[in-house]
Formats: sequence, C-alpha cells, structure tokens
Amino acid sequence: MPASTSTRVFHRQLHHDLPVAVSGQGISITDSAGKAYLDASGGAAVSCLGHGHPDVIAAMHAQIDKLAYAHTSFFTTEVAEELADLLIESAPEGMSHAYFVSGGSEAVEAALKMARQYFVEIGQPQRRHFIARRQSYHGNTLGALAVGGNAWRREQFKPLLINVAHVAPCYEYRDRREDESAEQYGQRLVAELSATIEQLGPENVIAFVAETVGGATAGVLPPVPGYFRGVRELCDRHGILLILDEVMCGMGRTGTLHACEQEGVVPDLVTIAKGLGGGYQPIGAVLAQARLVDTFRQGSGLFQHGHTYLGHAVACAAALAVQQVIRRDGLLAQVRSRGEAFQARLLEAFSSHPHVGDIRGRGLFWGLELVTDRRSKQWFDPDLKLHARIKKAAMAEGLMVYPMGGTVDGRCGDHVLLAPPFVASEAELAEIVERLNRSIDAAIR
Ligand code: PMP
Repeated sequence: MPASTSTRVFHRQLHHDLPVAVSGQGISITDSAGKAYLDASGGAAVSCLGHGHPDVIAAMHAQIDKLAYAHTSFFTTEVAEELADLLIESAPEGMSHAYFVSGGSEAVEAALKMARQYFVEIGQPQRRHFIARRQSYHGNTLGALAVGGNAWRREQFKPLLINVAHVAPCYEYRDRREDESAEQYGQRLVAELSATIEQLGPENVIAFVAETVGGATAGVLPPVPGYFRGVRELCDRHGILLILDEVMCGMGRTGTLHACEQEGVVPDLVTIAKGLGGGYQPIGAVLAQARLVDTFRQGSGLFQHGHTYLGHAVACAAALAVQQVIRRDGLLAQVRSRGEAFQARLLEAFSSHPHVGDIRGRGLFWGLELVTDRRSKQWFDPDLKLHARIKKAAMAEGLMVYPMGGTVDGRCGDHVLLAPPFVASEAELAEIVERLNRSIDAAIR
C-alpha cells in the first residue's frame, strides 16, 4: 500500500489523504513509508502506555487463548470481575460497581440512563432535565451529543431526545474577570448553575454532567479551586446527581487516577474509557455509587440498558493489564514528575510566543490556545483553519498532536491538545516540544 492513499474505509474525513499506519512501538507510530511519528497526543488521550507494550499484549493473548467472548446474560468472567475489583478498590469513595461498555460515548449514554432510571426507581419520574456545560464534549451518540456543549455538533441532529440546559464551563483564561479571584470566579459559575436549577425547578433535574478537566473542545480546561466542591454542595442540596465524565481526563492522565481526587469531590457516577484500555482494546466503564446500585437491586432488579459486547473478555484483559502496569511501574507518580518537566519545557518554549495565548493543563494533559496577539486574546480567522495547518505541519515534522478549532457560538478558536503516553521519557517530551514549536511557526508563517 502506498504511504498515503484515498481509502475506502469510511473515516470521518472523507476527502483527506491519510498516511497508512503499520506499526507502533513505545511512543511512536510508523507509516508504510517507514516514517515515524511521535505520538504526543496518545491518539486522542488514549495511549497511556504507548504502543506495543509486551505485558498488555501477553495478557490479551492469554485471554484470547482461554476465552474471547461470553455474553453477559449467561456469564460473568474472571477477568471482568478482577478488573471491576481493581477499579472499585481505587475508585472515589462509596463506589461499588463497574458497568463495562465499549468506549466513551457508550459510557456516557449508560450513565445518563442510569441516572434517569434511578429517579424512576425512587418514585421521582418527573426529573427529566440534565444540566451540562458549553464548550464540553461527551461523545457522538445522540444522548452524549445532547449533553455536549458544542452547538454546531448538535444543530443538524435536533431534536436530541433528552432535555439539556447548558451553563458556562470553567474557562479561566477567557472568562475570569480581572477584579475577581479564581475562587470568586468559581463561585460565580456555581451561582449561575444554581439559577439554572431554580429556573428548571430543582425537583425536575436529574443530574449535572461535566468533564472534571475539560478536554476535546477547548484545549484542556482545568477547574478553578473550589468550583466542583460548590457544584457538589448544590447538587446535594437539591438531590441532583453529579456525573463526572473522565473519559479523557481520567485514568491517571492528570496525575491522579481520577481527576476528581484533586477537586476533593466524589461523584455519583463517573465515566471512564480511553486510557482505561490504553488503546489496546475498545473499552469504557461507568463506576457507580453503591446507593444507586442498591436502589436498582431492591427495585426492578435490572438496569434497563445493555450492549452485545459489555465486559468483553479480551477488552477486560487488556484494561486489567494496562491498569496493573500503571500501578506496578508507579506511573501515576511518573505522570506528575514528567508532567512538571513537560510543563516547564512548554512554558520555556511558548510563554513568550506571540501566538500562544495560554498554556494550561495538569499531569500529562496540556492545551495551548492560539491567538493573533496575546493582549487582545483574539482568535485567528476560523477560515484560516490554523489548527488543521498545525496538524499538517506537525505530521510533516513526525509529530502527532490533537488540534481543535473552528467557531462554536464564536467560542472555540484554535487549540492544540497534548496527551503523551505516561511512559514518554524526558528526552522524548523535550523533542515533542521542539517539533511542536517548529510546527506552529511553519503553520503561522
Ligand atoms: N467524553 C469525553 C470527555 C471525551 O473526550 C470523549 C472522546 N473524545 C467521549 C466522551 C467519547 O468517547 P468515544 O469517542 O470513545 O465514544
């Protein structure tokens, strides 16, 4: 196969030529022309152990030799149980069960339905509204799309079947006023959420849904201190559930297994995927509070939801191996220390770059926001498609970065998301920054 080809595989981009990936090792992917690309985005914040990890591959082989698939209406499996045990041991307080699905959108769909069914089970079926945030992404299935905060993604698929009100995200760089502290800004956001709850009627709201650290829509949006504690208190006051979507920011990416650990809050439901299986198999999960699961058990005895591949044995084996390697090799601590080194390099390279307005993130999860000039914070004309040009320049440099851009309610702008594998060495992280620097300059020139 040539190195670049128009494929018959129906990918998202119908008109783009893509290189053909043939192998992956460590933090690199190699194409059919033999060119290697440093995977600085872990695909889409997926490949936490990089590519070709021998322990994960061995675990998958061992499982497929024993059993690949057993439908969940007949069996559970040892490997699914072992993975659930491990996840629950290290889950936020009070969580008792894991519900395995095949990816992030499925995890979000399942969480939305679990929350809705919970209120039906406890005799509050009038709760029909979700509240989510603008500038958020929760997946592409219809329910996940409805809670997602990008108007342009939703528009042509309306009506979206569930009721969702959207409030402001935590976007300190653009939205914090000069006369307020980060804490005051967070309180203002919580007050806005409170007003929205009052408008809908607190007794009608099912859940507030948010990414703990925003990801795929605005180049990483970490919360300000106290924001999620305020959100949690508000939800508790009104009996509203808190669903945290950690599909992208979870499973160690920000330096703790769950990003919400750093916020001092415990959600009712948390969705995980991407780094859970590290890309070796498609897998996601919803981790649920015992209180919710017990309600189902004592009520109808059934969660009214399911897919054919729930808890697929090979997917569970891959995820179990990935999670064991993370623990065995102390990779959370490594994310924190390498993350600090990475941050220092990013700041050194870009903090006085005329077109990098903001550098924000945690652990090995970083975003750069591109602006025409740092004082006005103005975004580039979306028709320039700067994010796509940066991606192209980066691919020419042998670098994979995850670009975002375009206009969304006038609220998106061009961003670059960086989410390198946890196993990236300091030298590789330094190389990523150098190549990115050259790519941004080549794209803007
Ligand atoms: N939630 C979040 C926060 C995500 O970042 C994503 C994927 N980018 C999803 C859900 C959807 O996951 P998937 O693409 O695996 O369906």
